[in-house]
Amino acid sequence: MMKVERGEIFSRELTGRCPNCGQLGMFKNWLRLHKLCPNCGMVLEKEESGFYVDTTSIGYVLSIILVIIPVCILVLMDMFRIWVGVGIGIVESILLCSLLYPLMLCWVTMLYYLVQAEELPNNSTNQ
Ligand SMILES: [Zn+2]
Repeated sequence: MMKVERGEIFSRELTGRCPNCGQLGMFKNWLRLHKLCPNCGMVLEKEESGFYVDTTSIGYVLSIILVIIPVCILVLMDMFRIWVGVGIGIVESILLCSLLYPLMLCWVTMLYYLVQAEELPNNSTNQ
């Protein structure tokens, strides 16, 4: 039986906490996780996992849905000139990606550990 249930992983990651021990402090800064959880020592930043690549891809998709498409519609409706639209699109996409980055990083790590819950140190050790 697993010590950390999937529901617990979900709620911990949703609030930016370590999936293994549930403590805050996973983030080294806005854009990066600590290599190891400062509390339980779990490896957070895996070389091969591609968390950051996946997070950036989600950022692009969200920018297209939330910024690029609405701006295109407004340009087509003649609400702005095309170059104003392009400028707003670029600035808003960058803002959106950088503001939401920690949240998206949590989603990516959450999905990873929901799928592979047995990889958590608390679930893999037989104590
Ligand atoms: Zn931890």
